[in-house]
Amino acid sequence: MAKGALRKKTGTGILGVLHRVTISPCPGSVVFARSGFVAKIATRFSKRTSGVNMRRWTGIEQQVFTPFSGKVDFPGLKSLIRSHVIVTFSLCSGIGFDSMANVAQLASDALTAGNGILRLSPTWVPRSFLQPGRRLKLHPDDYYALGMNRGGIDERWFASTTEAANENRNHDEGLSYCVHNGQRFLLRDVVAELKGEVIGDHIWKAFGKWPVYSKFFDNMGPIPHHMHQNAEQAAKVGQEGKPESYYFPPQMNQIGNNFPYTFMGLEPGTSKQDVIDCLDRWNKGENGLLDLSKAYRLKPGTGWLIPPCVLHAPGSFVTYEPQWGSDVFAMYQNLVEGRVVPRSLLTRDFPVEFHNNNEYLVDALDWDKNVDPNFKASNYLEPIVSEQGPGWIDKWIVYGKVDGRQLFTAKELTLQPGAKCTIRDGGAYGLITVQGYGRIGRMTLQSPSMIRFGAMTEDEVFVTAKAAASGIEFENTGTEPLVSLRYFGPDAQPAAPAIGSFRK
Ligand SMILES: [Zn+2]
Repeated sequence: MAKGALRKKTGTGILGVLHRVTISPCPGSVVFARSGFVAKIATRFSKRTSGVNMRRWTGIEQQVFTPFSGKVDFPGLKSLIRSHVIVTFSLCSGIGFDSMANVAQLASDALTAGNGILRLSPTWVPRSFLQPGRRLKLHPDDYYALGMNRGGIDERWFASTTEAANENRNHDEGLSYCVHNGQRFLLRDVVAELKGEVIGDHIWKAFGKWPVYSKFFDNMGPIPHHMHQNAEQAAKVGQEGKPESYYFPPQMNQIGNNFPYTFMGLEPGTSKQDVIDCLDRWNKGENGLLDLSKAYRLKPGTGWLIPPCVLHAPGSFVTYEPQWGSDVFAMYQNLVEGRVVPRSLLTRDFPVEFHNNNEYLVDALDWDKNVDPNFKASNYLEPIVSEQGPGWIDKWIVYGKVDGRQLFTAKELTLQPGAKCTIRDGGAYGLITVQGYGRIGRMTLQSPSMIRFGAMTEDEVFVTAKAAASGIEFENTGTEPLVSLRYFGPDAQPAAPAIGSFRK
């Protein structure tokens, strides 16, 4: 029996109140029987009422399907389920996954073999409303590998335990997989099993998960002027806020595509009523929001830090984007490159009672930060040397705090051919190689020229907090510079510079 069949047959409609049901290969014990099988089902609840996103694994249910008919009924679960509760069924093993042992064991084995480093496979994410920029090194035939209805692949996510909030999504969309000995398992499950040992105690204790991720964002043109809600606003719809940051890797930006400029914030002097007027014009033609903003030319090798509630319309550079692990947004621009932006993309992450209240939607913006007369000085990033030695240099590419808190940081490490170094970091990290050939610890690092959808690469890893603290050895064994980008979670880098420090 194929695992695909199993996935398809289980889903919404089992219980009337479910918003979403996904099946993910979470290994556990299973007995496989010819006439059916016995599976252990773990159930994860996300409670999206009252703004709390409570996730907990509830009890294990045992079910026998003889034969497997596709209808799954969990009598014990029914009483636990209330409306506005999202339930994720993880099929603990079974069909298609019967060769997998327990994730904790697999992860431990992988970490032992990799000396604290996990090998990750590429995670591709499509966006139905965007046009791919075709610079992610994917094979030209593969940008629509998920089907035309799903849109082209615009993004590759790194060391992610955050799900992509796409409609018609695959159950594991956005989630990174670890690969060891021919077995594949979710980084999210590894974190759930090994906790602080993987992501560091301070992050595990504070968040109970890896709360950040990074991606390459790659579009042919610009996207709408939008903002991401802050934590308080996002909590009202059961989500988390999203500050984000950008770095434009030169290796990925040999061509800037259609619009290598990003509108950010609002022109000083803009009034709230000006923006309300734009929203009032939503269905009457272009709403003119960009007339109230200005664009900054994007420059390879630089970046920006964008706090929540600040408008931005990312231009068409390939962007490395360390950010908070959330997919909330509100789009305030109604027409981009001739394409209509549905108003639902403005309102979807606000409480439903405010969807027609344009004043409320404008009040949601952080006004002072949007009309900041020193917007560039407050948000622009240039690399700052963190450490260097013979033939190598490690630079801060994302740094600074958001409302007084360090939420994420990132560095770019470059080794010249033959160079070797040992780098210690204050926290776990996800790493992607953007150029060259060499090794990290015992593992090969190689930046591929072209990747087939679904194929494995040797350019991405996750390094545990413990391994990062004890020091990771990098060596360039190739003939061109070996360049990698790595991002860190909250409070991992107390020594990171403040915004604006590059001018000193
Ligand atoms: Zn954004």
